[in-house]
Amino acid sequence: MLMKIIFGLSLGYFIATWAESFIHQHVGHACPRLRRFWERYPLIGTPFLAAFYDHHIVHHALTFRKDFVTQFESDIEREMLDEKLPHAWKKTIIADDYGVT
Ligand SMILES: [Zn+2]
Repeated sequence: MLMKIIFGLSLGYFIATWAESFIHQHVGHACPRLRRFWERYPLIGTPFLAAFYDHHIVHHALTFRKDFVTQFESDIEREMLDEKLPHAWKKTIIADDYGVT
């Protein structure tokens, strides 16, 4: 019984880790070809494009610019970013804490 529990926990951990890594690479940092596909089929692709923008652009390029700890240097910097965000995804990006959650 103990071995089954250990095996189950290990398998669950492996699957969760692999899924996170796969989604990070193929959605969060999607290649241009995949993004063009999503743009061609917006009913399916829009949520993926929003996730890509939230992670690749906002999380990696527009926040944490000083170091890997400081998301914004000031409220003014955060407010300036808020002004630049696409209106359709603004609420979601802010609710996601700018790609952190
Ligand atoms: Zn990333």
